[in-house]
Amino acid sequence: MRLEFDDEQALLQATARDFAARELEPFLARHPDEPLPRDSVLELLGMVKPFGMLSARVPGHLGGAGMDAVSLGILYEEFPPDVSLTASANDIIGLRLLDGGSPEIVDRYLPRLIEGEIMAGSSISEPDAGSDVTGITTRAERHGDSYIVDGRKVWSSHCTIADVLLAAVRLGTDDRGRAVVGRLLIDREQSGFETRDLELMGLRRHHLGEVVFDGCRVPAGNLIGEGGLASLTASWLTQRTLLGLMAVHLARKAYDASVAHAKQRRQFGKPIGAFQLVQSMIVEMATLIDTSRYLCYRALDLLDRGVEARMESSMAKYYATEAAVKVTSLAIQVHGAYGLSTEYPLEQYFRDARMLTMPDGTTEIQKLMIGREILGISAIR
Ligand SMILES: Cc1cc2nc3c(=O)[nH]c(=O)nc-3n(C[C@H](O)[C@H](O)[C@H](O)COP(=O)(O)OP(=O)(O)OC[C@H]3O[C@@H](n4cnc5c(N)ncnc54)[C@H](O)[C@@H]3O)c2cc1C
Repeated sequence: MRLEFDDEQALLQATARDFAARELEPFLARHPDEPLPRDSVLELLGMVKPFGMLSARVPGHLGGAGMDAVSLGILYEEFPPDVSLTASANDIIGLRLLDGGSPEIVDRYLPRLIEGEIMAGSSISEPDAGSDVTGITTRAERHGDSYIVDGRKVWSSHCTIADVLLAAVRLGTDDRGRAVVGRLLIDREQSGFETRDLELMGLRRHHLGEVVFDGCRVPAGNLIGEGGLASLTASWLTQRTLLGLMAVHLARKAYDASVAHAKQRRQFGKPIGAFQLVQSMIVEMATLIDTSRYLCYRALDLLDRGVEARMESSMAKYYATEAAVKVTSLAIQVHGAYGLSTEYPLEQYFRDARMLTMPDGTTEIQKLMIGREILGISAIR
């Protein structure tokens, strides 16, 4: 049993860490803590494209980077979450088009998503439907060769600047009265819709917004079916785990700053790191981070080996995102009032980490999915 990266992975880690410090962090530092303008987001996409991030899960023979999950995880651990979240939309939506999109849709959009010429966003959540996607009320009614879409979405990634949105819509109900939910690719140039950014506590350079579809006409050919692509399930499980590694990124930043601060800051004539209670905080942070990393890379390694690691990916997401909230909060404590000052990055790490327990299944939903795997009984509904 080996618990370390091989030489190639170690090289990728070193290269990505260096690139993040030299290019990505200074780029983000030049932009205030608010949604990045479209040009800057496209520039960021261009910066991470050579790492394969825009098409990591799209197979190589279809023009994608076709990366293994562990290597992708290394990039998500090393790059700031503002960057990774942005890149992941093109990657995931590109793969989704391959699963159930018509050849025309794939030809029209996939190459531009891979090249980072256009930007994608995901519109699933609604004011009254979050964890329970079957509760969505945004309707798509067929009229001739179009669908007419009416409804409202919230927390849609990139919606104010995206060229295309992949929206979950209610197509009707089945024999038992349950919602039939489909996915429509909605192109801003073809179909009009209103958007606005919503302000959230963290990840403020990322765009999460509201979309209003009011009689929005979408060509019927933009309905994305369910093609049963085998790699799609693995891709969702990978995504969950990648959110865990985004959290690890923030936790590690906060921890590194805390270790340095504990050695340098003096009170009562000693470095504060000499006090046992401060050491206890540092030790707790280190242990939470190590555990998170092992859980995340275990899940990714299993996925690379073809195991459907449902329980392991949920454990990784649940544990690592909650751990990052705790670590970033402890980091503020180690820094005293400096930790709360907006002149230092600690409070931002905390705000950013706090965001990650929600998307792709909240902590509670992850726990229920783990429970279902263990007990064989679903407590979700
Ligand atoms: C950073 C970020 C990015 C996001 N990106 C997108 C995006 O790109 N596209 C998009 O459509 N949405 C996105 N979202 C929204 C996200 O998917 C939802 O926040 C998430 O699905 C939870 O839904 P909700 O917020 O409505 O909470 P709710 O589902 O209303 O949950 C509220 C509380 O109830 C709990 N709960 C719900 N059901 C159960 C249950 N069965 N058992 C126990 N507890 C339960 C939840 O865990 C939570 O604590 C994003 C959110 C964030 C924070």
